Amino acid sequence: MNDQYEAVIGLEVHAQLLTESKAFCGCSTRFGDEPNTHVCPTCLGLPGALPVLNKKVVEFALRMGLATECKIAPVSVFARKNYFYPDLPKGYQTSQYESPLCTEGHIDLDAESGPTRRIGITRIHMEEDAGKSLHDIDADTLIDVNRCGVPLIEVVSEPDLRSAHEAYLYLHKVRQIATYLGINDGNMEEGSLRCDANVSVRKKGDKKFGTKTEVKNMNSFRNVERAVGFEVDRQVKLLEEGQTVEQETLLWDANRNAAFPMRSKEEAHDYRYFPEPDLVPVLVDESWIRNVAASLPEHPTTRRDRFMSAYNLPKYDADVLTTEKGIADYFEAAVNTLGSGPENAKSASNWVMTEVLRVVGEKGIDIRSFAISPSRLASLIGLINDGTISGRIAKDVFAEMLGSPEDPKTIVQKKGLAQLSDAGAIEQVVNQILSSNALQVKKFHDGNEKVFGFFVGEVMKATKGKANPKVVNETLRKKLGTPIAQ
Ligand SMILES: [Zn+2]
Repeated sequence: MNDQYEAVIGLEVHAQLLTESKAFCGCSTRFGDEPNTHVCPTCLGLPGALPVLNKKVVEFALRMGLATECKIAPVSVFARKNYFYPDLPKGYQTSQYESPLCTEGHIDLDAESGPTRRIGITRIHMEEDAGKSLHDIDADTLIDVNRCGVPLIEVVSEPDLRSAHEAYLYLHKVRQIATYLGINDGNMEEGSLRCDANVSVRKKGDKKFGTKTEVKNMNSFRNVERAVGFEVDRQVKLLEEGQTVEQETLLWDANRNAAFPMRSKEEAHDYRYFPEPDLVPVLVDESWIRNVAASLPEHPTTRRDRFMSAYNLPKYDADVLTTEKGIADYFEAAVNTLGSGPENAKSASNWVMTEVLRVVGEKGIDIRSFAISPSRLASLIGLINDGTISGRIAKDVFAEMLGSPEDPKTIVQKKGLAQLSDAGAIEQVVNQILSSNALQVKKFHDGNEKVFGFFVGEVMKATKGKANPKVVNETLRKKLGTPIAQ
């Protein structure tokens, strides 16, 4: 971007709440069932049907509000947002408008250098989802109203974000917090987390905002970064050419890597909001707020910082391990079994970050259903620590454990994988290797220290990787002496 300009970006994030029933009726929220099976007069908006607010929806919204340090309104109100859409049979969406539940919170982002960047949260309000139009099953468009009335929260940020990458980091943080709280599954590709961006640009130092556009239809984190980056560049180019930015809504087209106008400002909606007459105001008292606050899990950023101080882990490790609550829980359970001590924590961190997350990623599963429990992983690390197996053999045992519920110790015994530490046995192998490689021995004695590694490799090969590397090194040193300096 031209560095005379700065971007001004605000995000609106919709997160589907993981309640079992819908926001205003008892219908199931389960995803993927036969279309149009989770419906009733209320979520279809039939005349005379009355909504009743699901208390869990308020509790989940409160969790998000408290985790982002919002002010909680003791009284908040639902409104009708009127518009016609084929998958919205009621003809209006029930949403909070003038009186949202949560306001004036914030989320802190790590800056690459310097202090953290505080991004304001304007509001978090509750609303319901619309149904789904299916365009690719039949020649006609089909409607599935199972999703009508599924509860959402909308998290609206202040226009505090200054780059596409910052928008990406912010969205990650919202996802991280919401999934830690157990109120959202964080799945952007499946649409349970959705994001729209308001983008404008201005000359650096200007106080006045430029004309903003809204970018929609970004269904992955990467697309959010690309789409916002595209829109910032497009606006700067327009201004540089002496043109003006039109206020409009753009749809991101991931295949074409560009955003295109959806509707122009002439069609700007007037939703005719008015207070929902069928719902009483939402009252939240102090004791409810206290109870919800007491039930919140440790904030992911607090947990990250604790991993650094309590386990002496590098920031990189602590960041990776706390990306998801399940990963952080897995790591801590393994460390608790292993016992404290900085080496144990670092070994557990290495195993989780490399082997465990690799398999979890390859299989596309949640770490909570990973075949190797934290305590079995801890036993495996214990076998390396007490010298029973080498780190290399441990990888084989790990692979074996993926398909077997057995204890790693049992696997090591059954497969005869225990490390060979007997000095006499290793000496025999060393003698054999040295006598059958006279040429290499000469090279070593002529001053080629690198040949030492060759001998170690040969001994490991001959013992199928089971020889204790420390004993092998010591025995070779003893036999070979040091090379003669040239
Ligand atoms: Zn219903």
